[in-house]
Amino acid sequence: MKTVEPKVFLIGETRIVEEGLRAFLEHTGAPGWSTDAPSDSEMICETMGRLCYRSFEPGLNPNVTRIREGNAPYLANILQVGHGSVLEHAQLNFIFADVSRVVTHELVRHRAGVAISQESLRFVRLDALSAYVPLHIRESEEGLALFVRTFEELERLQRELADLYGIDDEKKFDVKKKLTSAFRRMAPIGVATTIGWSCNFRTLRHVVEMRTDPHAEEEIRLLFGMVYRLVRERYPNLFSDYEETLVDGLPWVRTAHAKV
Ligand SMILES: Cc1cc2nc3c(=O)[nH]c(=O)nc-3n(C[C@H](O)[C@H](O)[C@H](O)COP(=O)(O)OP(=O)(O)OC[C@H]3O[C@@H](n4cnc5c(N)ncnc54)[C@H](O)[C@@H]3O)c2cc1C
Repeated sequence: MKTVEPKVFLIGETRIVEEGLRAFLEHTGAPGWSTDAPSDSEMICETMGRLCYRSFEPGLNPNVTRIREGNAPYLANILQVGHGSVLEHAQLNFIFADVSRVVTHELVRHRAGVAISQESLRFVRLDALSAYVPLHIRESEEGLALFVRTFEELERLQRELADLYGIDDEKKFDVKKKLTSAFRRMAPIGVATTIGWSCNFRTLRHVVEMRTDPHAEEEIRLLFGMVYRLVRERYPNLFSDYEETLVDGLPWVRTAHAKV
């Protein structure tokens, strides 16, 4: 067996269509509007927020005589007043690799604002098993030996099943699929796998808050600690209210504006 750590790949993000935005600003009477957003995602959220009150510049809406200048203060106010729907416009596309089915079972419970594609263990046959080893297991020599031995036995079992049912000689893919699905029932829930997970920023904030909490499970805390650090760096104004402390060596991310 191979021991692995969860891996985060950010493979996509929403981007601005410059000519479309310019055309809209012309249309709305603010052709000179610009912002200092560090990313397209933050610019999109700001644009969607400002169109609500026509607050691109004073006077566009006769009721508005002052506006908040700059992406950071604008989004900080959005977070403070809980105008979370504007954060739904920008999306991120992640792939989480070498994560257990423990993590993927927990992750798919978050339904609002996500898209999911999970590696199929009906199609992808398990032969070599890999797994994240939890801290309590790692800390005990005997526990670790038992963990590794069990995984190796289950790995052998997968190969034994493959031989017993002659799956490599099977020509019909439909039969292979049925056999592969039967075999996976004898695989451990800790087996490492891959999941594609896309979400909007509102959802991401909620999931980071819930899954970095010290009461959440260790591996998903580790995963969302990594996700948080990545997005905090890349989209600072959408997470400017977050404070990170370490609990058991893992980030616990908190805010006064939870679940915007
Ligand atoms: C520490 C911890 C322990 C847990 N233990 C268990 C457990 O023992 N057993 C168990 O089954 N689950 C458990 N869960 C999972 C938990 O109950 C939620 O299902 C999961 O965290 C998804 O979060 P969410 O409900 O906020 O849904 P999300 O899909 O993330 O939704 C975000 C928000 O949108 C709203 N929303 C989403 N869907 C609906 C809807 N259909 N109707 C109305 N409003 C909606 C809600 O306000 C929701 O909070 C645990 C989670 C954590 C973090």
